[in-house]
Formats: sequence, structure tokens, C-alpha cells
Amino acid sequence: MDTIVEVIDEENIDEGALEVLKKAGSIIKDGGLVAFPTETVYGLGGDALNPQSSMKIYAAKGRPSDNPLIVHVADMESIKKIVKEIPDAGYKLAEKYWPGPLTMIMNKSDAVPYETTGGLDTVAIRMPSNKIAAELIRCAGGYIAAPSANISGRPSPTEAKYCVEDLSGRVEMIIDGGAVGIGLESTIIDLTSDVPMILRPGYITKENLTELLGDVSVDKTILDANSKAAPKAPGMKYRHYAPKGDLTIVEGDSQKVAEYINGELKKAKGQGLKTGVIATSESAPLYNADIVKIAGSRDDEEEIAHNLFSILRQFDDEEVNLMFSESFDDTGIGQAIMNRLLKAAGHKVVRV
Ligand code: AMP
Ligand code: MG
Repeated sequence: MDTIVEVIDEENIDEGALEVLKKAGSIIKDGGLVAFPTETVYGLGGDALNPQSSMKIYAAKGRPSDNPLIVHVADMESIKKIVKEIPDAGYKLAEKYWPGPLTMIMNKSDAVPYETTGGLDTVAIRMPSNKIAAELIRCAGGYIAAPSANISGRPSPTEAKYCVEDLSGRVEMIIDGGAVGIGLESTIIDLTSDVPMILRPGYITKENLTELLGDVSVDKTILDANSKAAPKAPGMKYRHYAPKGDLTIVEGDSQKVAEYINGELKKAKGQGLKTGVIATSESAPLYNADIVKIAGSRDDEEEIAHNLFSILRQFDDEEVNLMFSESFDDTGIGQAIMNRLLKAAGHKVVRV
């Protein structure tokens, strides 16, 4: 299959851009796949109400088909068709956080095929704020199932070039809308349990959600490598976000972390390995790696979240074999950062 790549400027969706989006919408309505930008990461979209489209998404990503997809909508009205009912908390959250980086899980209606929900009776729903995404959803008939637009297991794509790398020849079209804003996937909250439960941390934090809903619980498996419990979000059990080389997180006092990592870097150089470190702007000068990447200032979680996946991809591009990362606070957006970083490292953590 030839993959068409089209560039659209989110801030200037002109006639030409609308033509492209109509064409992309027709591809999806006809059962094809289109990768597109959202404010979180790039999505790999197909018609959420067409079981064949969902099967194609799993095949294109190499994703296990028991890992459900998120259904993307452009307005509240559309949701009524795909759920049994919208709980009160759903209205509250939508009012404050939609369109935006929050996914809500509700009981599904018969309109949603089990292929889309990985066999579950619940459906995950999100209304993205990216204008290209919103217009594409309208052009595609209102319901786009879209996981992140990467090959399963790799870091989620924050730029179109990474979709091209992973999905060329596997999808009909890739829409290049530039670098994404947030850089981490949406927060997922399950509204089907008595107490709403966060299944995946993201830009919208536990603190944000608790403030609005009162009692909110967090799936225990989010940061815990040793938990025997199965994650409530089926996808979270799979290896995820992993760079090609070996990544270890080093935790502890900043000086000691630098000493430990520099010691390991020295050994690695002796073995001819290419090395990388994920550091902060404060600590970067401490490291002697081949490549030191600054995720951001330690005080700026949004910046760190924004840069994390692209740093992991850059290490792949630069063929780095051995990587170390500093650890980050696991409060606020830090919970999402640490969740992704721990998975990328296969939960390899050294405490010094
Ligand atoms: P991705 O598409 O890569 O952003 O991943 C989507 C995530 O949403 C996966 O971790 C899924 O397990 C989770 N998810 C989607 N639908 C449901 C659902 N109905 N119940 C629980 N988790 C879900
Ligand atoms: Mg993903």
C-alpha cells in the first residue's frame, strides 16, 4: 500500500486543508486507516463502529486484539449513541476537561463492536481539542477509534516523521500537523465503578480529578512493577514505550546519581557501547555520556512530559545502546512521566 503524507497547519485550516480532511474522512468511512495529530500524541484512526476497521488497526500496529481502542468524538451529542448512559461525573468532567486530554470509560451500547473494545462491555471515549483531529472526526462520520500511531511497544509518536517511520505502507494516509503539544497519552478514568478510578495517569492529574469529583482511586498497577494484580486497563500490561537500547532509571540524591551513572558510562565506553542520559537542565553538565538529552527543568513537569517520548525516539535514531535516566517526582504530571518511564525501562530501577 502507498501511504500519502499530507501537511496541515492546525492554525490555518483553509480550503485546501479541508479538502485533505474530506479525503481522509472518506478513507476512514470506506474502512481505511489515517494517522493524524492530536494534542496528546499522534493517533492511528479507523471507523470505530466498523469491526473490520478495528481489526485493521490491530494488524497495522501489531497490537494484541485484547487491548481496547479509544473512541474519539467531536461533540457530546455523538456520545449518546455509543453508551448506555452518561453518568453525572461524565457531564462534570466533560464540562471542565473536554475537548482535551481526558478519556472516560462508560458502559457501551450495541452500536460499538466488541472488536473496538477488545471484547469488553465498556467503551473508552475522548474528545480531542486538536482542530485537525476534531474536523477529521466530523469528516469521518463522527467516531474514530485511535490508539497511538506507533508500532506496538515503541514510544508513542509526537511528530509525523515517527508515524512515517512506523506506519509507512500500513496506512492509507498520514496527516502531518507538526509536533504535538502535550506529548503523553490522555489520562484514562473509569466511570463504571462506584468510585471513579484512574487507569492511566496523564496530563490531567489525580489532584485535578479529585478536586472535581471528590473521591477518586488509582489503579495500583500504574507505578508498581511487582503488583500481581492485572491492570484494569488491559493495554497497560504490555511492554510499552520502549527504546531499542537498554534503559535504566537511577534514583537518589543528584550527586550520587551522577556518580553512579558516570561510573556505568565509563564501563560501557570500554565495551564500545554508545551511551545516553536523560537529564534535567540543572543536572546535564554532570554527565559524561556520548549524548546527554535535557528533558526540561526539574521544576517544569509539562516540559519533561512534552519531551520524553521524542527523546526516546531520538536515542533510537542515534543508535544509542545504553541509556540512563534520572527519576522524577511521582506527583502531579510526574505520575504520568514516571508511569511511562518505568515502562520504557521495563521497571529497571537502581537506587543509590
Ligand atoms: P492507546 O490506544 O495506545 O492510547 O491505549 C489505549 C488504552 O486505553 C489502553 O491501555 C487500553 O487498555 C485502554 N482502554 C481502552 N478502552 C478501555 C476500556 N473499555 N476499559 C479499560 N481500558 C480501556
Ligand atoms: Mg499506545
